[in-house]
Amino acid sequence: ERISDEFKSFLDSGIYRLDGSKVVFVDPVRLLNDSYSRFRISPSSYYSRSFQSTDRRRVVEEVNVPSISKKKRKRKKTPRDLNEREKSAEKRHQEARSLLLKAHRAFLEAAELQTFLPKLVKCVEFSRGGETEEKNFIELGSCWQAPLYEIGLCFPKSNEGEDSWLANHVGRTVVPLFNNLISHETNDEVEAEFNNSQYILPGRSCFYMSDLRQIRNLIPAKSDQGFNLIVIDPPWENGSARQKAAYPTLPNRYFLYLPVKELAHAEGALVALWMTNREKLHMFVEKDLFPAWGVTNVTLCYWLKVKPDGSLIGELDLFHHRPYEYLLLGYINMENIDSECMPAVNLEDARVIISIPGVHSRKPALGKLLWDHIPGNKPVKCIELFARELMAGWTSWGNEPLHFQDSRYFVEK
Ligand code: SAM
Repeated sequence: ERISDEFKSFLDSGIYRLDGSKVVFVDPVRLLNDSYSRFRISPSSYYSRSFQSTDRRRVVEEVNVPSISKKKRKRKKTPRDLNEREKSAEKRHQEARSLLLKAHRAFLEAAELQTFLPKLVKCVEFSRGGETEEKNFIELGSCWQAPLYEIGLCFPKSNEGEDSWLANHVGRTVVPLFNNLISHETNDEVEAEFNNSQYILPGRSCFYMSDLRQIRNLIPAKSDQGFNLIVIDPPWENGSARQKAAYPTLPNRYFLYLPVKELAHAEGALVALWMTNREKLHMFVEKDLFPAWGVTNVTLCYWLKVKPDGSLIGELDLFHHRPYEYLLLGYINMENIDSECMPAVNLEDARVIISIPGVHSRKPALGKLLWDHIPGNKPVKCIELFARELMAGWTSWGNEPLHFQDSRYFVEK
């Protein structure tokens, strides 16, 4: 069967453009694989979340005839008047709704993509490691021994083909694991070892594992050494007790003190902020957080979550469990951004990102999607705050940036 150029390019890049590019379907595994040469992300460990499948006919029907009967039922169920916040949440949802339905329809109409989806998530493979229990860096970093923990970085020998352990592990360096900027300049992956677990560090990656209190150590000495892309996925408080196990959360006011402005490059920085659906949060970001960080020219994008069968992970109109989240894009030091190198200041073509979600709260990597909109001279500098993984050439900060670097999440090429 003939495959389209778009699909061919998707197999390579992980990005499939739909609906005149306003909608993209992404495979986060392929996006991440850009960071690796000797290893690959294990699809079965990424797509480990299981979903109840929906009847395909219903999927298509739902998107074409958004069920009126259901809406009627719901209206009957909530006769009380909505309060102000609920009203404004509903308004926000209605704005998103038709755009998301249209995006979902375009995605379902991409037949070659639909046929391929089950294969995307079901792969037979043997991942590396995983014999030992996964480390809880959040706990380790907050105990009194934290300053004593060390990680060993094993730099591969450049060319000689000797096969002995020694030849492959020359240049082993041991450095403190917490509250320490750990970086390496090797273009290839570097393998690291901590307490009987193996970690894969992508080429030229850099990380700082610490609590929020130490984040100021990342502020560059000069503002022309700052970052051109700042991706932030804060541990927002959720309100639901269900979520509490995955990681600790922080009250909103803490984020006001994140030194985002100080991390930004003097010539301009693109800020990408992930956001959940809570209405309180939207008001906070708009009125307090972005002004405090100096973020302007904000564009709204959506992340729509689908199952491997193409259906949404939840009903679009369910009030508390929307199948989408928000991604806000904005700029810092906008006045210094050279319009020549920044033609597309309004990010009109990146409105909806569709993907099959991995484990709780794991977001698709944004570097490639945002590439054309990052201000500054190449090579640009990119940082992720509250990261749980590393990327080639990026700096990652958080209290567990090594989490998904455990070798259990990788297969050897
Ligand atoms: N973007 C990540 C991903 O795709 O996997 C998820 C980030 S998650 C929403 C927020 C992260 O912030 C968690 O890893 C959590 O442990 C971390 N975090 C919570 N409190 C923190 C603190 N006080 N200092 C540093 N990191 C913290």
